[in-house]
Amino acid sequence: MKTIEKRYFVCEICGKASQNEDKIRECQESHLIISDDCEIETIYPKGKVFPEEIKVKFPDGALAGYVLNYSQKGNKG
Ligand SMILES: [Zn+2]
Repeated sequence: MKTIEKRYFVCEICGKASQNEDKIRECQESHLIISDDCEIETIYPKGKVFPEEIKVKFPDGALAGYVLNYSQKGNKG
């Protein structure tokens, strides 16, 4: 019996794994990171604690919209 070890590269952002290093480097560089350079717009329904919708505009003009999926209040108050 012989054993073969395979080497995998893993994207540190989404977890995608492959033996092809270039593929994973490409994956890692493709992700848009939310940074201080992004414009973030929050939309609150009347009387609600959490924003219902968040819009993120990235420096290159890319746009992403997120809708509230769940919420849980913290210890404040
Ligand atoms: Zn990735």
